[in-house]
Amino acid sequence: MTPVRSPIDFTALLSDRARRMNASAIREILKVTQQPDVISFAGGLPAPELFPLEEVRRAADAALTRYGSAALQYSTTEGHPPLRDWIGRQAGIPAANVQIVTGSQQGLDLLGKILISEGDTVLVEAPTYLGALQSFQPYGPRYVELPTDDGGIDVDALEALLRTTPAKLLYAVPNFQNPTGRTLDAERRRRLVELTGRYGVLVIEDDPYGQLRFSGEAAPSLYELGLEYTGDVNTNHVIYCSSFSKTLVPGLRDAWIQAAAPLIAKLVQAKQGADLHTPTLNQMIVTELLDDVLPRQIETVRQAYGERAGIMLRHISEQFPQDVEYTSPQGGMFLWVTLPQHMDSTVMLQRALTRNVAYVPGSPFFALGGGHHTLRLSYSSATPPQIERGITALGETIREALDQ
Ligand code: PMP
Repeated sequence: MTPVRSPIDFTALLSDRARRMNASAIREILKVTQQPDVISFAGGLPAPELFPLEEVRRAADAALTRYGSAALQYSTTEGHPPLRDWIGRQAGIPAANVQIVTGSQQGLDLLGKILISEGDTVLVEAPTYLGALQSFQPYGPRYVELPTDDGGIDVDALEALLRTTPAKLLYAVPNFQNPTGRTLDAERRRRLVELTGRYGVLVIEDDPYGQLRFSGEAAPSLYELGLEYTGDVNTNHVIYCSSFSKTLVPGLRDAWIQAAAPLIAKLVQAKQGADLHTPTLNQMIVTELLDDVLPRQIETVRQAYGERAGIMLRHISEQFPQDVEYTSPQGGMFLWVTLPQHMDSTVMLQRALTRNVAYVPGSPFFALGGGHHTLRLSYSSATPPQIERGITALGETIREALDQ
């Protein structure tokens, strides 16, 4: 058959939703940073050498033996019942309020789908998790940025905003935020939950890193405070998302949402249209690992990331010029660097790459732009000697750029 040149203009046929999507700025940057000699603080990958490979192999075997062909069959949209039960027990809520999702990333997309109509006001931290912006963007939100400092969201600014601006949703990462590594103060959490409750604003609390605390005291989750505030799991205006990606392994794509029953019912419908259910065997594998391997793994990861963060911070304090600011995370995988205002971290990245070190420039993490003089460093997947060499190279790059 002679091939016919397609008369179809695919771009013209894209939906409005598809038009709102854009390539992740980080993905493009990561391509450059993946050359073998480059020490990369850019990616947000968990440390692969810590993955419990043998334990996952045994768990897969155990699940296949325990469930036989049911492990490979379609299963319920809500999720594997023993996994939902366990999550419910940990959170002190009924399993009916737990929805298993294929990565928190799917959770964010489904929440965007069921909650955001075009033009709805969505409040986000400045800066915020880029993946959430990507998930919400196709649904056409109007972003309003909330100012943040070392204690997280400025709740006075939030209150002033809510007095004048009706908002639908507030999205926040209160523990060891991606990208800044900051944690929301305990007192501010209470006020945030009380204010959003009073003004009828839903809160999405995205908490993949909460278990990875290596110093300081844990604060109650917004979800727990929401339960206290409203007194009932089915009137709680806080929706909680977490994941086994950072505590166990990301590749199984097992995560969950805790929410009021009417929202769970809608999420089930949305998920049916998306992927019917999260892979059955993957959920069973995770369930096999919950009681024994998961707590040990969390301890291993905490220790390793705590050590790596400590080494990175020590070298930063020795190598970076005085007028460069940086956060000191108490957990998670990231820290945030603020260069003098006149510097541009995107331009500087090219110079850093010539010294074989990479990071992610900060501006893509701002919903409304800005932050050109900021950058994110990840310490989770670099070894201590790489951290030392990489931070030394980055210190030289910054000093050279400052001198010009
Ligand atoms: N939320 C935040 C804040 C994250 O940093 C990430 C992972 N980078 C996700 C959600 C997505 O995680 P998951 O692997 O569960 O999809």
